Amino acid sequence: MPVESIKIKAYAKINLILDVLKKRPDGYHEVAMIMQAISLHDVIAIKPGKGITVRANDPLVPLDERNLAYKAAEMVIQRYPQVDGVEINIEKNIPVEAGLAGGSTDGAAVIVGMDRLFKLNMDLEEMLELGALLGSDVPFCISGVTALAKGRGEIIEKAPLCPRLWVVLVKPPFGVKTAQVYKNLNLDEAIKHPQIDKYLEALAKGDVSYLVNNIENVLEYSTFKLYPEVRDLKESLVAKGAQKALMSGSGPTVFALFKCLDEARSFADKLKKEGENKVLLAYTLNEQEFKERVKHYG
Ligand code: ATP
Repeated sequence: MPVESIKIKAYAKINLILDVLKKRPDGYHEVAMIMQAISLHDVIAIKPGKGITVRANDPLVPLDERNLAYKAAEMVIQRYPQVDGVEINIEKNIPVEAGLAGGSTDGAAVIVGMDRLFKLNMDLEEMLELGALLGSDVPFCISGVTALAKGRGEIIEKAPLCPRLWVVLVKPPFGVKTAQVYKNLNLDEAIKHPQIDKYLEALAKGDVSYLVNNIENVLEYSTFKLYPEVRDLKESLVAKGAQKALMSGSGPTVFALFKCLDEARSFADKLKKEGENKVLLAYTLNEQEFKERVKHYG
């Protein structure tokens, strides 16, 4: 029986390590990042249609060609003209402009979902290539689950898989524009660059204490200047008992890692009781969970 629609979980990411190496002549920044997919996700439903329609349950999400899910559909249709169109429904759970790749993961989900729905038989390489045209974080969102990302973020190498860690995320009540954060980053100031090789070694060894305590993100140097309240939030998470807290991507979401669920849950409950209004609990995904993100509906 032909598949008539597809539902796909579009997972958010956190950066366990985010380093910026230099500004390139093409205007992008050269980065080195360890990215990790987490259980927080949007649900993208895709079915055949005429033209492209996008619906979403969050007024902050644009429904036209500014939406990366829309753009992804446009790119796939351009390459595969046998596809007439699609209806895309986005159930948004990932906060917008949060540093969690919310838009990129929706775009990635549409590429993967349309490939399955219309049996386009794209290989991973083709999907990654399309993804890179859509945005720097999109290839990671296609391939998952723990990866080293280089170039402007679009060059993906496998990294040793992250063991199960629990993630408490706090999203401040405002968004941050990624482009502004990169523009405001001053690489000439004394920046402490993360030791990415050591972190990769710790992943390989499954050294959970090291993984929890050595997350680093140089974009904090920029975002904290623009939004000092993000620094305050990071410091408050440590004051309240997190071993280490870190901004994800360009922010403003700040997260802390925990070895076990009970610890993470009681920390999240404490933050909620003390008035943080957007506290989310998630976990790092494994390969199997990531692979099972696509569901067919006949
Ligand atoms: P990143 O971590 O990749 O920098 P982000 O999580 O900070 O991304 P997004 O949630 O992707 O930021 O939102 C960035 C912008 O993208 C918003 O201004 C929003 O209007 C736009 N956008 C486009 N498509 C989507 C989408 N499907 N969901 C949410 N925002 C989207």
